[in-house]
Amino acid sequence: MPVLQSYIAGQWLGETPAKALPSAINGDTIAHTHEETIDFAQVVDYGRSTGVKSLLALDFQQRAAILKELAIYIQQRKAELYDISYHTGCTRADSWIDIDGGFGTLFTYASTGRKELPSGNVAHEGPVAQLGKDNHFTGTHILVPRRGVSVHINAFNFPIWGMLEKFAPAFLAGMPCIVKPATATSYVTEAAVRVINDSGLLPEGALQLIIGGTGDLLDRLEEQDFVTFTGSADTALKLKSHPNIMARSIPFNAEADSLNSAIMAPDVTPEDEEFDIFAKEVVKEMTAKAGQKCTAIRRVMVPAEHLDALADRIKQRLSKISVGDPKEEGVRMGALSSSDQLRDVHEAIDRLLETSECVFGKDSSLKPVGTGVENGAFIAPHLLINRNPLEDGGAHDIEAFGPVATLMPYNGIDEALTLAAKGKGSLVTTLTTKNPAIAAEMIPVLAAQHGRLQILDAEAAKESTGHGSPLPILKHGGPGRAGGGEELGGIRAVHHYLQRTAIQGSPTMVAAVTREYVRGAKVIENDVHPFRRHFDDLQVGESLLTHRRTVTEADIVNFGCLSGDHFYMHFDDIAARKTQFGQRIAHGYFVLSAAAGLFVYPGESPVLANYGLDTLRFIAPVAPGDTIRARLTCKRKIDQGRTSPEGHPQGVVMWDVAVTNQDDELVASYDILTLVAKRQ
Ligand code: NDP
Repeated sequence: MPVLQSYIAGQWLGETPAKALPSAINGDTIAHTHEETIDFAQVVDYGRSTGVKSLLALDFQQRAAILKELAIYIQQRKAELYDISYHTGCTRADSWIDIDGGFGTLFTYASTGRKELPSGNVAHEGPVAQLGKDNHFTGTHILVPRRGVSVHINAFNFPIWGMLEKFAPAFLAGMPCIVKPATATSYVTEAAVRVINDSGLLPEGALQLIIGGTGDLLDRLEEQDFVTFTGSADTALKLKSHPNIMARSIPFNAEADSLNSAIMAPDVTPEDEEFDIFAKEVVKEMTAKAGQKCTAIRRVMVPAEHLDALADRIKQRLSKISVGDPKEEGVRMGALSSSDQLRDVHEAIDRLLETSECVFGKDSSLKPVGTGVENGAFIAPHLLINRNPLEDGGAHDIEAFGPVATLMPYNGIDEALTLAAKGKGSLVTTLTTKNPAIAAEMIPVLAAQHGRLQILDAEAAKESTGHGSPLPILKHGGPGRAGGGEELGGIRAVHHYLQRTAIQGSPTMVAAVTREYVRGAKVIENDVHPFRRHFDDLQVGESLLTHRRTVTEADIVNFGCLSGDHFYMHFDDIAARKTQFGQRIAHGYFVLSAAAGLFVYPGESPVLANYGLDTLRFIAPVAPGDTIRARLTCKRKIDQGRTSPEGHPQGVVMWDVAVTNQDDELVASYDILTLVAKRQ
């Protein structure tokens, strides 16, 4: 049997077998951890020196591009990961969540980075605040990579997704990662790290893998480091109260147990489509990954009058779930990930039965489908009913990390909300209702206790991604018992690994630091129109102040006829005089168009496309007789390393546009986005 190896300081470590890791399907040993001890001083030193250096030699955009390449590479080799993942008890659908969900998260973060982060390693989080009367002193925020390592201690249930969903934002931010998977399924993570390593795509030191315990790793962490944890609340508490973590204020993001609920609102009756949708969602969440999902539904709140009908509907569906070797035809639920886990879940069910009765599962003498599966970690789905759910304890406290859910009858919306809150903070709740008013009443109350809320009706069910699926663009993590952490959520997750710092200074200094033109900063003016400059030559701050144009009555009439916009403010003198402007004014969109007419260079140029406009504000009215001009300034350049469809390299340029009147008063302000060709 192979000995798993740690990947430390660019070398694979481990030859001597230590702990045997059994297959969840048949109990056979499929790998051993290694006996060799890891030098954690070397691990952190290597991460902080080699890792930080090689990651910061790249910028946000380059790291985003690597994430995409890596996602493609893992996708091409996913078949071998599916073979290994099978031993954790997974059906094909379960492995899909872990493997395709894993590289899918890399794809999403590649795209997030490309769209939402700049070139360079300083992200500007505006807006810039004018702190002095004459705009000589301003303030804003920047986000920069922390100069440390990011330690990720992961759970057994998602050995690949669990690694990649944290690796992606940390890597994008520029932090080297030290990944410690749960030992029970570490053979899957090790296989994935080998694939990643084979790709040759990651810079040196970007990823290290620890098989086995963390030794004195936490004692060696410093102020610039970061820790994320997924697993039990007990371990979370132990690790986050580690003296070194506390003494050095090392950020610690925890995702722990969560007693997630699903609530059927009082308006849903057994005749409704939503009733069945609800039952189906509960069964799906009980049986996917054999219930070993931090987001699985553990508590099911149902109007008391529908308790029996819902129990019957769920039982009907559960009776069709065949449990066994996922390679066997028709098997819908695999095994728990280990015999230890099987024992824990049985123990938790026994404790739940002190306050609940079992209406499905307990008496079934489960015979898993397949041959040679007697020693596998199989369990039947268990449906329980707690008839006194307003009492504390029981299913409000005990998490059976398997295919187990408890029905709870309630009377009235307030009672349903009280029951949900007894989870003391959860990752996710699904509310099923047909009535938007009920959703509007319940969701804000539930939101205070949850990280994510799904409203499931017949319309949403057509495309729902499911109660239990954390999405890379949406926040994952919940308050209170759920650990209080936040993962994923698009760019928000990247920000966790960056240090946010307020900076103050003159607009010119702020522009130099943020590499983004700030109003009031010194501009660069020369004889060449900025639109005639290639991406490579253009500098942030290059600016053009246009000639002037006096707006006339004819402009307004022509623009109204061309656009069809005959709003009274532009065409009804009597009505316009009653407005706050006291007279007719030009269309805002005329001002916008006229400004383009003033600043655009009409001839052929490296500007390939104008693809959008941000932050548009019409600040002061423009009336016939007013004279306007525009200042166009290169605000930001983003090099995504992309080419046009014809193969010409190009970059994104954002331009600041300020339109002023004869009194130098700002009348319109916005950013325009262009694609600009590179020189060669
Ligand atoms: P643990 O909390 O025991 O382990 C989680 C991770 O922490 C593993 O990688 C584990 O490594 C590591 N770990 C444990 N103790 C230490 C320590 N002293 N120092 C450093 N690392 C440590 O959870 P389990 O994986 O055993 O699962 C137990 C329960 O946690 C489940 O039954 C379930 O209730 C809950 N859970 C919650 C999840 C969630 O996403 N919210 C996911 C999975 C589980 P090792 O495996 O080597 O011990």
